Amino acid sequence: MRTAIYPGSFDPLTNGHLDVIQRAAKLFDRVVVAVARNEDKQPLFGLDERLALVKQAVHHLPDVEADTFDGLLIEYVVSRKAQAIVRGLRAVSDFEFEFQLALMNRKLNENIETIFMMPKDTYTFLSSRIVKEIARLGGDVGAFVPAHVRTALTNKFAGT
Ligand code: ADP
Repeated sequence: MRTAIYPGSFDPLTNGHLDVIQRAAKLFDRVVVAVARNEDKQPLFGLDERLALVKQAVHHLPDVEADTFDGLLIEYVVSRKAQAIVRGLRAVSDFEFEFQLALMNRKLNENIETIFMMPKDTYTFLSSRIVKEIARLGGDVGAFVPAHVRTALTNKFAGT
């Protein structure tokens, strides 16, 4: 059983994330989308909300599940008996941080590999941060996130 962990803040999940998840699911028997608590990043959506949005988005994918984690990623990866960490690479700007993170995780546990996946080119400009900014200003994010995430963003900024 080859298992990969796809960790991130997913605040909220975008079509770019979903694209990476679907690509990873073709390579592994099981993909666990692991939503990081990351309170210090002051997420717009709480941990439970982010998890629920991911769950709904991967519901139709039989080999994909969603979970949350807190603390050291590498410990979580070992606890889930996974062999790999999946990360998305959009552009050169992602590279330096991701490279550092991957090598640090290898130092902590050399048996765990980090795999980078490139999204479809139309998603390379997408980030949760930009999607939140557009939604906050009243723009339509329908092309960038699944319908239920769009609704959650609209409700969040409407204060409901
Ligand atoms: P983090 O806070 O860990 O960066 P994110 O939710 O922003 O969490 O991203 C999780 C992972 O998904 C990261 O590896 C990030 O580079 C990647 N990612 C984010 N948006 C996209 C996208 N549009 N296409 C491909 N990968 C992406």
